[in-house]
Amino acid sequence: MDKKIYERPILRKVVEGIPNKFGSLKRLRPIESIDNVLIDNLIDQYGSPVFVLSEKTIRETYRTAYRAFSTRYPKVQFAWSYKTNYIDAVCRVFHQEGAWAEVVSGFEYEKALDNNIPGNKIIFNGPDKSEEDLARAINNKSLIHIDHFDELYAIIEMLDELKERPQVAIRVNMDTGIVPQWDRFGFNYESGEAWNAINRILTNGNIDLIGLHIHVGTYITLSKAYATAIQKLAVLATRIFERFQISIGYIDVGGGFASQNTLQGAYLPATDTTPSFDDYAHTITTAMTSASFPNNETPTLILETGRALIDDAGWLAGTVLANKRLADGHRAMVIDTGVNILFTAFWYDHEIYPVHETSFQSEPTTIYGPLCMNIDIIRKNIDFPLLNKGDRFVIKRVGAYTMTQWMQFITYRPNIVLIDEKGKTHVIRKQEDKEVFRRQEMIPEHLKVN
Ligand SMILES: *Cc1c(COP(=O)(O)O)cnc(C)c1O
Repeated sequence: MDKKIYERPILRKVVEGIPNKFGSLKRLRPIESIDNVLIDNLIDQYGSPVFVLSEKTIRETYRTAYRAFSTRYPKVQFAWSYKTNYIDAVCRVFHQEGAWAEVVSGFEYEKALDNNIPGNKIIFNGPDKSEEDLARAINNKSLIHIDHFDELYAIIEMLDELKERPQVAIRVNMDTGIVPQWDRFGFNYESGEAWNAINRILTNGNIDLIGLHIHVGTYITLSKAYATAIQKLAVLATRIFERFQISIGYIDVGGGFASQNTLQGAYLPATDTTPSFDDYAHTITTAMTSASFPNNETPTLILETGRALIDDAGWLAGTVLANKRLADGHRAMVIDTGVNILFTAFWYDHEIYPVHETSFQSEPTTIYGPLCMNIDIIRKNIDFPLLNKGDRFVIKRVGAYTMTQWMQFITYRPNIVLIDEKGKTHVIRKQEDKEVFRRQEMIPEHLKVN
């Protein structure tokens, strides 16, 4: 009998966490810098918490998206969705890249003008346009996307006082297979309401119908929905041509592309499931090129992509305030960023990373914000290493809807810093201070004495 070869046993420390159905948990690698700028330096210089935006990522993301569409379709125009992030410096990066402005209020409209966008490159969406807003936008030759009949009647009523012929599109809502169906904005396709609106606009004779608009919804991972929308809008375009001999100039498919943030309750991480710009572009441009538009024309394809263009470029760095054990022994960590500045924590499982090496140990942890409110939860349950009071962390992909939907609650909103392409940092929105609030408040005379 052969003697087996002796193999010396080795002891190896298992560094993986508890395996789950996707395999073993990998050790959370720290993220120490953003575009080669140390997060420690950012916090030392600009305070904690601090929002950080990467100009490089914004431009790269935009160029990737633009390339995906423009290589597949001859006429493509992006319009930056202001409500997704209307910090002026951010808007200006998109405008420098060639994006128009897409606004949904008089306030956003003014911001676009202040960012030097000519009126005819501003798309005015939304259900709330005052008569003054409308008159100004029409006289500036902006693209008015009519949301409801009352808005159309308001435009018709002011026709005599206008310097320019209104350039309008209608927003159309329809069944594209997405549930819930967003039927509260615009005119419904299936019921005939959209066709009715078109007839009223074109029989008037003093209004130019230049496009058709749809915004299916947000975080749409089913790119086929866009193809369905385009097919139905092409039917409308054909009917418009048959009845009025007018070709519409553009099809605006709105926004809605998903970002790489994972929705709470999702089975797989979004990085595995979110379609790429190429995926969306393939489906959308296939629908555009195969649809029959009247007169064999090629309408311009407008995109109002918000979330997918900016989410990755935004970071939120902060500091651990405390650790504690809940009544049942569950570990809890309190950090200095709450849902007041990270609204999106209500629907995303935001990725959060330590800034420095941690121990190998990790444990299921609830991460709370600093607000005196029970709903202030940043992560309900995450396998996380132990960070001590004063340790720093960074939250990934927070560029979309945070810096516009944030609210001021019990404390000041923090600095927003832009890292430019050379690695230089710029404050692009100052941290609030008590003067900001003093300016807004007034004390009646009888309350001035105690
Ligand atoms: C919010 C909005 C967008 C941007 O949507 P995303 O889902 O962020 O891409 C575009 N168009 C309209 C009309 C919107 O209301």
